[in-house]
Amino acid sequence: MKREGLILILSAPSGAGKTSLCQKLFTTFPDMKESVSYTTRTPRPGEVEGEAYHFVSEVEFDCMISEDAFAEWAVVHGNKYGTALSTLEAARRKGVDLVLDIDCQGALKLKEQFEGGVYVFVVPPSMAELRRRLEHRSADAPDVIEKRIVRAADEIKESRWYDYIIINDQFEVASRELASIVVAHRLKTFRMLERVGKLFDI
Ligand code: 5GP
Repeated sequence: MKREGLILILSAPSGAGKTSLCQKLFTTFPDMKESVSYTTRTPRPGEVEGEAYHFVSEVEFDCMISEDAFAEWAVVHGNKYGTALSTLEAARRKGVDLVLDIDCQGALKLKEQFEGGVYVFVVPPSMAELRRRLEHRSADAPDVIEKRIVRAADEIKESRWYDYIIINDQFEVASRELASIVVAHRLKTFRMLERVGKLFDI
């Protein structure tokens, strides 16, 4: 029996530092893969089809919904985003450890429908610090920042049903905490039995 791949679900309000934590995770564990979602939003400059996302039309997305092709999907900031069931099943079967960067509505649907994922929520150290980070990155207009802050307060309430919560105050600490979660789940007995079997011929 092949070792079952780990499905790590990461959610966070915008500005909590999830993207940087994810990047660090892939440096620490180069064999982990990022799940490529489907979305109806248009590509941003530099985004390549099949890398950040599979960019599809509304019709194509709706067709996938009707074919039950999604393990979860949600509307985020007016666009549809979804994780294909086939992506999760293939990774699990091949023993690949997969990271899903998805919003909390999608994560909740997945938790209800798909067994065995590990759910991690990243929060900023405070609302004041979240505001400071959003203003500092100056990618968004002030009204957009206000909307993100209101949305963040709602999203943080959802953290209660996740398996783990990381407070991203100091990046290095948060990053180590995320890596520890991965290590612990990689060492679960049911994932280790195949290796132990080969090592000791049992
Ligand atoms: P962006 O358009 O900035 O790349 O992503 C916007 C939001 O969509 C992020 O919060 C991200 O976590 C979420 N997202 C990306 N892919 C998926 C997905 O497949 N399913 C769900 N539910 N959310 C997603």
